[in-house]
Amino acid sequence: MAVFSLSDFADHEQVVFVSDDKSGLKAIIAVHNSNLGPALGGCRMWPYASEDEAIRDVLRLSRGMTYKSAMANLKLGGGKSVIIGNPRTQKTPELLAAFARALEQLNGRYIAAEDSGTSVADMKYMTQFTRHVAGIHDKPSDAGTRSGDPSPATAYGTFIGIKAAVKERLGRDSLEGLRVAVQGVGNVGFDLARQLKAAGAQLWVTDIHREPLLQAGKELGATVVAPEEVFGLDVDVFAPCALGAILNDSTIPQLKAKVVAGAANNQLAEARHGAELMKRGILYAPDYVINAGGIIDVYHERIGFDRAALIKHIEGIEDNLMEIFERARKEERPTGEVADAIAEERFKR
Ligand code: NAD
Repeated sequence: MAVFSLSDFADHEQVVFVSDDKSGLKAIIAVHNSNLGPALGGCRMWPYASEDEAIRDVLRLSRGMTYKSAMANLKLGGGKSVIIGNPRTQKTPELLAAFARALEQLNGRYIAAEDSGTSVADMKYMTQFTRHVAGIHDKPSDAGTRSGDPSPATAYGTFIGIKAAVKERLGRDSLEGLRVAVQGVGNVGFDLARQLKAAGAQLWVTDIHREPLLQAGKELGATVVAPEEVFGLDVDVFAPCALGAILNDSTIPQLKAKVVAGAANNQLAEARHGAELMKRGILYAPDYVINAGGIIDVYHERIGFDRAALIKHIEGIEDNLMEIFERARKEERPTGEVADAIAEERFKR
């Protein structure tokens, strides 16, 4: 495979291939850009069908982290790592130790955090072999002490972002009576739904699992709908909090919502779908801007946790979105495109 000429290769600074015979480790660490600070990003373990797929994934995701951190005004660059393998059957202490030793050799240019297939416990284990992992400290929260889980911060940032988007598109300061559909009531989505309910919103929820739906119905008075029904609901806001690529050729024509604002990563199936939303008068809050609460949380953990400073930083998501919305309005460009331009101005400066 010709790595340098891949479109996903963009302008990566460093890509490291790691293997360890004894533990069976095969991993790739990608540092996209470190202008603003060390490259921080999740370590994903996944049974990729091919090495090509793993390379493309790590290149795409590490680049995304540069944009996300720059937009959130963090002194961090963008990076990501992938371990090729099934986390259920192939993740052993020896494999994690070998991966951690590889991180240590990079001397802090890349800092790993949990991601799909890895856990806070895995990160904590790796601290025996490296200093360069994040998202591991127990810290106080409203619900009691919790470990590095960034979901509550992500949910709060998404809530702030929905308020900003509603203000921009619907001209409303209050969420009282606002109709919101939440796709996916997992860690982030459920917490977000709770905050929306407390602010007076009316909720519709969907998920592929029954249990969180029953809970959302009981606890939040949410109306439960089938996964395929969520797109066409007569609501004000559609909040995707489940999976990527859900804004596509088949779902966009169904949307009645005037605002799409949720926590899921990579919501646009392709960049052109951002233009499609704009054409239909739907305001899209770019995913990596609105869901930055998690990375902001991890960053604050590294610089010394101060809850008030963390909250203030997360609330800055509103300013970021307002800047994007205003520029998109003036320049008549899709919000995702404008977000990328602003992020580039920040990290290329
Ligand atoms: P999660 O796994 O806890 O929740 C996702 C929920 O979506 C689950 O309940 C799942 O059953 C449901 N789901 C999956 N497929 C679905 C479908 N087709 N229709 C409806 N529901 C479906 O994950 P999470 O941590 O809550 O993250 C949610 C999204 O936000 C993901 O896209 C994630 O990448 C993104 N995100 C999360 C964080 C964070 O801090 N956790 C940070 C940034 C971005």
